[in-house]
Amino acid sequence: MKHQVPFSGHLVFIGFGSIARATLPLLLRQDHIEVERITVIAPVIEQEIWFKERGIRFVRKALTEQTFVQTLDRFVKPGDFIVNLSVEVSSLAVMAYAFDKGALYLDTCVEPWAGGYDDPHLDLSHRTNYALRYQVLDLRRRLGKGPTAVVAHGANPGLITHLLKAGLMELAVQLDHPLPQDREGIDWARLCMEMGIKVIHFAERDTQRSQRPKEDDEFVNSWSVEGFISEGSQPAELGWGSHERSWPTPARRHRFGTRNTIYLERPSASVLVKTWTPLGGPCLGLMITHHETASTADLLTVKEQRRLVYRPTLHYAYHPCNDALLSIHELVGRGWETQARQRILNGEIDSGGADALGVLLMGHELNAYWFGSVLSIDEARALVPFNNATSLQVAAGVLSGIVWAVEHPDRGIVEPEQMDYQRVLEVARPYLGTLVGQRTDWTPSGSNHRTSTDGAADDWQFEHFTRF
Ligand code: NAD
Repeated sequence: MKHQVPFSGHLVFIGFGSIARATLPLLLRQDHIEVERITVIAPVIEQEIWFKERGIRFVRKALTEQTFVQTLDRFVKPGDFIVNLSVEVSSLAVMAYAFDKGALYLDTCVEPWAGGYDDPHLDLSHRTNYALRYQVLDLRRRLGKGPTAVVAHGANPGLITHLLKAGLMELAVQLDHPLPQDREGIDWARLCMEMGIKVIHFAERDTQRSQRPKEDDEFVNSWSVEGFISEGSQPAELGWGSHERSWPTPARRHRFGTRNTIYLERPSASVLVKTWTPLGGPCLGLMITHHETASTADLLTVKEQRRLVYRPTLHYAYHPCNDALLSIHELVGRGWETQARQRILNGEIDSGGADALGVLLMGHELNAYWFGSVLSIDEARALVPFNNATSLQVAAGVLSGIVWAVEHPDRGIVEPEQMDYQRVLEVARPYLGTLVGQRTDWTPSGSNHRTSTDGAADDWQFEHFTRF
């Protein structure tokens, strides 16, 4: 399917890793994007022949804090689009640069310069995605309206916010619940509150398997190894629900901002949490920290006269592919000393696996409801070259974010929560496999679904998700 993207500038990609390689073939299918208008800047250029044969220009260079302006100035003009799909290149710096240049911008997470995720000069609160997000919100306040910069728009963060809204709409239909409105449209926080949702997981399970199993001293993943280790070593974070009765021992509050999330004094890849997806049902995921934890905690909080009235507990619960889980196990076991070798799975993945990425809405009249994308490796391969199921979900987020930015070029800095979820999902839809909405009787404590209000509140206490 093609989308009419009325874009005549240059696209400048920073980074040529698994997600850039996954996204470019998707972009080449769009009308109005001419291939000779795409430049990729990255320090390492590998597997580039297919792309070069189609006319994409490559520049072998690392962007650094000292030299990135000079490098980008050679390629970026007003009206161009910078797509930042790198690691270790500051989102904030490039976003501000794009704004000054009059260029559009998109990234898939708020990335600091190298060393920023575990800077020993920062306290734990300032190493969270909550803190990184506040830097973006400060920049937004300072810059105001201008060329659109879409922040954190891959699959998750990114599409997951739109799937959250679509899932809430599906649940509202099933519960026959009216839609509360605010000035901007549907009041999502009140909708969640009125439907009785207590906990939301951004619940993902990846069942892709390689024909070549993980070896000792090797980190294997279905997307960036560096990106996964970075977020896995940040503190775990969660929106803290108004129904919670006991405070987790390692939890701390922030001293700035809305304080709608809390963090645990634990690396997020070492926090295990029970969850559920349609791929195999119950599983044990990792409470990996993400941008959407903080941004959706703000979206779904109800306050009256600055007093908290309602918030669900919410966070990411990720069962990565088995080899990635083993890789994390090995990494944590050896005190976070990174493995000598890294491998991002693609061609060697067996047929039959899939990635299920969606929202698990819990604690309402129907007990729990999962809504999201289930995409198999076989579908992904048949749709777009250079993709596995995970990367195609991310690339669909990047593509739909680019299309939305081009259609709304003067919005300044926007997060997924400020975008039109229906339009974004319309663009991403052809690459998301099956959109599944499935009810389940599962609860973290294993008890059957209860109907009394008190029983329901007990079932959905955070402690049940982390007690084994
Ligand atoms: P990758 O590790 O495969 O590739 C990273 C790329 O960045 C490489 O091409 C590398 O050469 C480049 N790079 C490193 N240092 C650079 C520098 N100084 N200047 C320019 N380029 C540099 O990563 P990936 O899987 O392609 O992921 C890319 C980004 O997207 C990561 O930040 C990752 O965390 C993020 N991501 C987001 C989502 C989402 O759903 N939101 C999903 C997957 C990945």
